Amino acid sequence: MNDIGKKADTMDKKKVYGNPALWIDPPGAAMYCPGCQHPVIHRIVSEVLEEMGIDGKVICMVGVGCHAFVQISWNIDILSCAHGRALDSGTAVKRLNPDALVFTIQGDGDCMAIGAGAFIGAMTRGERITTIMYNNTNYGTTGGQLAPTTLIGQKTTTTPNGRDPAVEGYPAHAAELAATFKGTVYSARGSVDTPANYQRAKKYVKKAFQKSIDGAGYSFVEILTACPPNWHLSPTECLKRIGDEIIPEFPLGEFKDVDSSI
Ligand code: SF4
Repeated sequence: MNDIGKKADTMDKKKVYGNPALWIDPPGAAMYCPGCQHPVIHRIVSEVLEEMGIDGKVICMVGVGCHAFVQISWNIDILSCAHGRALDSGTAVKRLNPDALVFTIQGDGDCMAIGAGAFIGAMTRGERITTIMYNNTNYGTTGGQLAPTTLIGQKTTTTPNGRDPAVEGYPAHAAELAATFKGTVYSARGSVDTPANYQRAKKYVKKAFQKSIDGAGYSFVEILTACPPNWHLSPTECLKRIGDEIIPEFPLGEFKDVDSSI
């Protein structure tokens, strides 16, 4: 070892980054396809729970889809719900545990298709729950079928020639829809395609959780996420697609931010 090597070896090494405290080791993130951004969103939620000091006071309701691997990623109380029913189950859990932060983790299919009735019901009633919805513009788990969020022209296994609005309709905008309900106090859409957007999405999640803790009403954050195998793109091409095609259809930002639903 030369002098420089010796010096580096004896330097006081300060850890500047690591796994969030509530991550289970080995991380459930290892279950995902290469380039999938679901674990990146898991990380945002983990960091926020840790930074807010509330990781021991939360109950997470999980829907059905690739996002559901949070069950083996996080060391918190988690209830695995029937497809689309996370907000119905969350309503019961929140009413029985009014002091807990109850939040749902759902995909765009789970929340906007199978769970559309539960989604609208929770917003109508202004449930004190937060939803984090992962939007990858298709049903990833089952092989890439058309979802409510699929872009016009996007090829899926059920729209091999691309989504045709005359046949399959137009993409559904969850964050904009959520903002129209009186029971909703906060609605935003973020992305994790760049470091700046990661930080912005994290801010949205933190704000949504705070609204829930304050008992203000229902809060919603949609986050765009890449699905390389079903988009038939490399992970880096996916990031470009998010910037070039998906964000123009699903703009980022806050759509509603009020203190009370009353
Ligand atoms: S299918 Fe898509 S959403 Fe599911 S783990 Fe793979 S990349 Fe992620």
